[in-house]
Amino acid sequence: MNDEATLRAALAAAAHEAVREGLNRGASGNLSVRLDDGFLVTPSGLPGATLQPAQMVFVGLDGEARGGRRPSSEWRIHLDIYVARPEVRAVVHAHSPHAVSLACLRRTIPPFHYMVAAAGGRDIRCADYATFGTQALSDAVLTALDGRRACLMANHGQVAVGADLAAALALALEVEDLCAQFWRASLIGEPVLLDDAEMDVVLERFRDYGQRGSAPPESSGTEG
Ligand code: 13P
Ligand code: ZN
Repeated sequence: MNDEATLRAALAAAAHEAVREGLNRGASGNLSVRLDDGFLVTPSGLPGATLQPAQMVFVGLDGEARGGRRPSSEWRIHLDIYVARPEVRAVVHAHSPHAVSLACLRRTIPPFHYMVAAAGGRDIRCADYATFGTQALSDAVLTALDGRRACLMANHGQVAVGADLAAALALALEVEDLCAQFWRASLIGEPVLLDDAEMDVVLERFRDYGQRGSAPPESSGTEG
């Protein structure tokens, strides 16, 4: 069931997981999940590890927050992504350590590993810098996310989106791992990059990777 109560609980659980997995600490970062007429987002300035379902803030597609708590200061990023990207149903913003380190260098993550394609393209861009919580930052993030499911944010962190909270969290973890791997490889030398043709092959394979298009469990085993 995807009713509001279920999604409040799922969002709180995802916020806890983001801390457990080392994506966020204290009150850094924020997460959201789409509803029919808006979205639920984590409240501003409260530690992610102890967030409760009732503390999640509803924000309408008109940008109006409902209830007593203030939404995440980055509610504009979440709103603008839901408006611009109908396929997105969850957004994770994190200050994960290796993503932050590379974002401070304002580096695009090049195709040094095929898993860069998990973010939807041949590289993972770094959004231009703007002050946290501003429309300018949201605009920069939307630009960097064009045709992608994740980006870095200059001198700040990363954003990952997905069809649900699990997918957005998994991608944020993947981006963090890729940043750590790129950093380590760069310590030893200059990583060899995959060329456009090779990345296009990987992007094509990802369209049908894993369990996509497989039979549902109840009908498996009935084929010939
Ligand atoms: P909020 O607590 O307001 O979500 O701020 C955390 C953050 O990461 C700002 O970019
Ligand atoms: Zn932030």
